[in-house]
Parts: sequence; structure tokens; C-alpha cells
Amino acid sequence: MIPVKGFENARVAVLGLGRSGLATARALREGGAEALCWDDNPAARDVAEAEGFAIHDLTRQGAFEDVATLIVSPGIPHLYPAPNPVIIAAQEAGVPVDNDIGLFFRSFATSQWHSFDVMPKVVAITGSNGKSTTSALIHHILDHSGRRTQLAGNIGRGVLDIEPAEDGDVVVLELSSYQTELARAMTPDVAVFTNLTPDHLDRHGGMGGYFAAKRRLFAEGGPDRAVIGVDEAEGRYLAGQLAEGPTDDRVIRVSVDRKLAGPGWHVFARKGFLSEYRKGRQVGSVDLRPIKGLPGSHNHQNACAAYAVCRTLGLAPRVIEAGMASFGGLPHRSQIIAEAGGVAYVNDSKATNVDSAAKALAAFKRIRWICGGLEKDGGLEALSGATGEVIKAYVIGREAANFAMQLDGVEAEVCTTMDAAISRAMAEAQEGETVLLAPAAASFDQYDSFEKRGEHFAELVMAAIG
Ligand code: ADP
Repeated sequence: MIPVKGFENARVAVLGLGRSGLATARALREGGAEALCWDDNPAARDVAEAEGFAIHDLTRQGAFEDVATLIVSPGIPHLYPAPNPVIIAAQEAGVPVDNDIGLFFRSFATSQWHSFDVMPKVVAITGSNGKSTTSALIHHILDHSGRRTQLAGNIGRGVLDIEPAEDGDVVVLELSSYQTELARAMTPDVAVFTNLTPDHLDRHGGMGGYFAAKRRLFAEGGPDRAVIGVDEAEGRYLAGQLAEGPTDDRVIRVSVDRKLAGPGWHVFARKGFLSEYRKGRQVGSVDLRPIKGLPGSHNHQNACAAYAVCRTLGLAPRVIEAGMASFGGLPHRSQIIAEAGGVAYVNDSKATNVDSAAKALAAFKRIRWICGGLEKDGGLEALSGATGEVIKAYVIGREAANFAMQLDGVEAEVCTTMDAAISRAMAEAQEGETVLLAPAAASFDQYDSFEKRGEHFAELVMAAIG
């Protein structure tokens, strides 16, 4: 645990008592603050109370008297579509609003660090897609190389839950836009921007707000190094804004679209080969094609970003390559779960938006595509052009018929349930084909989470192939 600093003997309100809220309350208590806990859900309050925390109704008049700050969980809206009333009350009382990420960055360094040979480092990863994979990959490569590392944030442990740093430690932190938008302190040593496509637009008042939330990590955080995917306009803009000029190697540009030229520091992948260029010369390369855990150009983008981060931390290209080769990939993300009768079965249940589904569709050939679910804003148009390898779609979800109708130029069968989709796809699949679950939609119409959906897919496939 990281004891929170700067609030000794102060009263700090904690709104939202899920995993990160409870971890925050514990870290506040450890740091000598009094945590005043609240959650609209009585069951969550009971859990906090059982741990000895004071329950303090933050919806009451005058609840913020003598409160030093309010810490909010990421699931609670602070601005759009409308701020939570507790947040409005805090603002009206002049109480600062922050989150666990802000507390972490203020509390992580200790006076012990003066005696360390190698200062601990924090790597923070944001972007629309690939955050978890990139974070897990960096963590894996470092671990494989013998460097002590901890994975936290959206993936792994709650950020205040990790161990205090030891000599030379690296903390790898996955940050969502909800977190970067609110945190009052963000000072990573290395920050990564994977890519940007529309998502969570209701929480950010549109695309501009969504980009602004992510941009804060760079503009206000001032990392020593920024690793930036430049395959979209926003990434190019951000890289251009941060760099002093073409030779400024505090910015490392990443692409899977094209060869990056010029005197700066670049990492790009083309046709499965990763290249690192510095000062106009190639200084490293990795053949990504044999790496099973990183299929497709979207994963090559993650590989480039992870490579760049590890280079800034002093790892040699061959050490990074060895780490990548033993990376198993994350569950539910382009994960090859089985091969039977010459047919591959791939679980990409995490493809909850159109863009990530399009990437999965580009990573495989001759696809029998299981898709559908709770559709996100923006429709399915962005999928057109991505379905070239699809032989047939098997559509699931409560609105399967409507979803199927929007799939332009693809033969689609309305299956509604996962069972039906799998048995139809398996009955029709030929040798050399891939049955791919990449829904391009959220899971909540039929499942509690994308994980449950992916597990169901895997169970049914395993049962059917025996
Ligand atoms: P995040 O944590 O940002 O949601 P994940 O690594 O969990 O990212 O991947 C989410 C989804 O996006 C998965 O369907 C995955 O296959 C796909 N994906 C992974 N990396 C990328 C990328 N660089 N670009 C686009 N899609 C990606």
C-alpha cells in the first residue's frame, strides 16, 4: 500500500466504494487522514463500515464542512452527461475534487529514494485501444529482463494498493480518460498515447473533450519522454505540440501505417517488422511475425509503443525481443483459444467498439465472424472496409436483427445467442478458416461483462471440439 501524504489529521471524503474507493480509503487511513466514505449503494457502505471506516452521507446539506478534499471513483461522472450532485456540492463548498491517481502521484516518492542507486520510474499508458495490452506487455518485458515492476491502474492492482517502490522499480500504470481528466497531479517519467478513436463520448461531451482528457497526461504531466502513436490526426498534433523541433528525442513517434523519416526518435512496424530509427539511422529491429501473443497490426502498434518505453528505460533490443517472444497475450484480446480440424478459434470479446473490432478483423484471414450486442454511439459505418476477410457474420445480441441489417456487403445470419452462433459457425467452417468473436458492441444486453461473454464463447467452443 502507498500511504497517502499531505492529509495528516485531515478529513477526506471518498465517493464510490468499489475496488479503487476502498483501496483509497485504506491508503488515506494509513497516511493519517480520516476517510469519510460514501456510496449510493448500501451494500458497498456496509463493506466499508465492516472495515471500520466512517460512513458520512455526502448528499446531506453541509456534508463538506471541514473536508479537505473529495476523492471520486472513475465510474462517477464529474462533468458530462451531468456531474454527480455530490461533486456539485463539493465544488460549491470550494472543496477540491481529485482521484486516486492524483493521490498516488503526490504520495509515491519517499525520502528513502535518496539512498537508491536507480530512481524508481512511473510509466503511464493512455489511448482509446491497446492500453491494457501495451501495459501488460511492458510489464512482462521488464519482468522477463529481471527488472522489478508492478502493474496497476485500470489493469492489475488499484494504484494505491501497490508496494512502495524499491531501488530501480518501474510502476506501469494504465490510465483511462476518466482518470486523466480528473487527477490533480500526474507526473509520470514516461507517458504513452496509443491511439485515438471515438469512445465514451457521453462522458467527455464529444471527441474534443475526450482528446483533451487524454492530452492532460502530457500537457500537465510533463513526462520526460512521451511515446505517441501518430497514425491519427490527434497523435500527430500532440507529438508536434510537445516536441521543440525535429531532433527533439523526448518525443518518440510510433506508427504502423508508414515508415517514419527524419532526425527524431521513431519506432514503426511494416509488414511485421519493427524498426527503431534515431538521428536518421536504424538502431534496432524486431521480427514480430513469429510472436504468437501479438497478432495483427494493432498488436504491432502495441509492440512498438512497449518497445519504445523499454528502450527509454535502457533495455537492449534483443532483451526486449526475448520478452515479447514469451508474451502470452491477454485474455479476450485477439486470443487464439483453440485450433481444431484446421480451424482457429479466436476470442476478442474486448472488441466492444467498432474500431477494435475492425483491427481484429484485419488481423486474421477467412473469418467466420461472431458479432453484435449492445451497440455504441456512432453506428457501424466504420466497419465498412474492414470486413474484406469475412466469409459470413453470425450475429448475436438482443437487437441482432437490427445489427445484422447494418452490416453492409456481408452475408449475415441472425443467431441471437452465442450457442446458436457458435454451432452455426462451426458447422460451416472449412479448414484454414478462423472463427472470430469480435462483437463491435458492448456485452451488457446479454452478459455482465465482456469477460463473461468471452468465457462463455471459450467454454462453448471447448465443449464442442471435445
Ligand atoms: P484498452 O485497455 O485500451 O481497452 P486492450 O489492450 O484491452 O485496450 O484492447 C481492447 C480491444 O482493442 C481488444 O479488442 C483488442 O484486440 C483491440 N486492440 C488492442 N490493441 C489495439 C490497438 N493498438 N489499436 C486498436 N485496437 C486494439
